[in-house]
Amino acid sequence: MAKTKWKRPRKVSIGALTYRIRYTTPGKGTELQKGDSGCISQERQLIEIDKNASDQLCVLVLVHEILHGIGDAMCPNRSPFAKELFTCTVAEMLTQALLSINLLPSGLNDLFQGHRGKRKGKN
Ligand SMILES: [Zn+2]
Repeated sequence: MAKTKWKRPRKVSIGALTYRIRYTTPGKGTELQKGDSGCISQERQLIEIDKNASDQLCVLVLVHEILHGIGDAMCPNRSPFAKELFTCTVAEMLTQALLSINLLPSGLNDLFQGHRGKRKGKN
């Protein structure tokens, strides 16, 4: 399988907001808790992702946190994306769908062969 040249993004637009994306070590002076792969803060317009995550996991976590961000933009606190299990499921299925229509780099195709069941980080 060809290795992806995917470059990890530094910011993402969600609705009217632009979030910075930081790649950090969980539990080391950041909002990202040990055991989580990603988190999002609407107040700080910041997404943090475990810097040791593979590209594949990184994409999935990004989609997951973006969904939380969309939920916050639509209806804070009452969005279905405030629910962790719902967000996990939609993120996995959406990422898989985007891969299947080549909207994500093909090097990420093994996304769903190695990471199933792994915790995807929360809020
Ligand atoms: Zn989450």
